[in-house]
Amino acid sequence: MAKRRLRGWLVAAAVTLVAAAVTCALFLHPSAALAPGPVGSALEAASQGLDEIAIDAAFHPVSRTVDVTQVCTLKNRTGVTQRVLVLRTYPNAFNSEDTSPAATDEFFDACYPSGFSAGGLTFSYVKLRMGDGTEDYASYDFGDDAHTVMRVTLPADWATGDTLTLRMGYSLLIPEAAYRYGVDDGMWALGNAFVLPSPWVDGEYRADAYYSIGDPFISDCRNYTVRLTAPNDYAVAGTGSSQSAPTADGQTLTTFSAPAVRDFALCLSTNYHVKQLMQDGVLVQALALSDTNAQTMLDIGARALKCYGERYGAYPYPVFTLCEVSFPFGGMEYPTLAMISSGYLQTGGNKLEQAVAHETAHQWWYAAVGSDEYNQPWQDEALCQFSLLDYWETRYGAAERAELKYTMADTAMLVTIPAGVTPGSPVDYFGDMSEYSTVVYGRGAAAMCALDTAMKGTLDGFLVRYYSTFAFKLATRTDFETLLKTYTGEDWSPLLSDYLDTYLNN
Ligand SMILES: [Zn+2]
Repeated sequence: MAKRRLRGWLVAAAVTLVAAAVTCALFLHPSAALAPGPVGSALEAASQGLDEIAIDAAFHPVSRTVDVTQVCTLKNRTGVTQRVLVLRTYPNAFNSEDTSPAATDEFFDACYPSGFSAGGLTFSYVKLRMGDGTEDYASYDFGDDAHTVMRVTLPADWATGDTLTLRMGYSLLIPEAAYRYGVDDGMWALGNAFVLPSPWVDGEYRADAYYSIGDPFISDCRNYTVRLTAPNDYAVAGTGSSQSAPTADGQTLTTFSAPAVRDFALCLSTNYHVKQLMQDGVLVQALALSDTNAQTMLDIGARALKCYGERYGAYPYPVFTLCEVSFPFGGMEYPTLAMISSGYLQTGGNKLEQAVAHETAHQWWYAAVGSDEYNQPWQDEALCQFSLLDYWETRYGAAERAELKYTMADTAMLVTIPAGVTPGSPVDYFGDMSEYSTVVYGRGAAAMCALDTAMKGTLDGFLVRYYSTFAFKLATRTDFETLLKTYTGEDWSPLLSDYLDTYLNN
């Protein structure tokens, strides 16, 4: 009797455990609930002929590592024969306090609450195949002290239009850091983590430092396929559409498909709560440490996506994901994904709504229309602030828009800023975040508002044209100004120069 009762209890316990596991699986793995919509025709067309990146990754939380095999199939699109290929290995910047963008005096205490923790990227092999030739080990070195500029020597000429295949094995070490690359409070952020081919711009490979202010990245669109295994109690969200399935050894394999994206980012946690909805064929989802915060992010993200889609042109990707991350910034944009800070989620209110709306706007101004975020940070940031004003008007009306414009843009024109920086300055001209924020976000937004006023409120119309012309491409400042002139029939470069390049002596 006692035995039978015990057996019955065990059966009941097993049933409960299985039920709990099924509930967890449904709850924690977003793809198990709503599925992303199909790839639309614009995205399908944009993805044709792009370079391919295939990543196989295994996440090991105990060792804070990700073991990666990455294959890049790249075509020489530089217009000149190359003997060197440059790739970016940003995680290496986190190896020492001297080079980590999170270890500056301004950020150290907030980003490393338990003291400095090293991160990095260690190669086990780098192999290269030119065209249809045989694969061989490739030699490489680094062009900077932080080892973020990797130069692979090509054994033969890489002529324009020719293809090469690079196969790399490496391990990522994720620092204990409250940052876009790091783990803090149980949330893992893998931003700018995977090896990225450096774009060729104006006759050279870009080799910008991982500067601590702004988002010092620039990259081309490629087609990504990523297969990630992680312990099955982790919720996983990343760039692109995903599907998850359990593996034989108690892990979960998540496969991501992301056509025409500039980078691939990941967020993982065992504590994420997931909320989803379908809107206009797009799967919108939010992952946060609480149900309430996931729902709040989801609601704002979906509203912002709808607003910008109606104002500038349809969101091109089948999925948009917002993830809570612990870092001392409002948010950080990646293709089809934005990280939103725990601090803002705890504060809530207008500050949170504005941060989510700003990050969502980056899907138009950064993810779709790429720009030089190092030398012309205003080109995405000021446009995102202007888009935020559009969102605010759609949501709360013209008077509230005017009020927000006053606090965001007009007051930024009045405060005193040390000479030497303008909204048109590169990120490395700025000494701290508050100066950067006032000048690039605030005065940059003032520039867009002045332009809109001078254009009699037709800047949105221009942005429709700008988006359709440069989606999936990189737009320079000259591209912006030239298209503006074509669109309006007037030259607005004196007005832009007044705002973007002129020091204010307040
Ligand atoms: Zn931004």
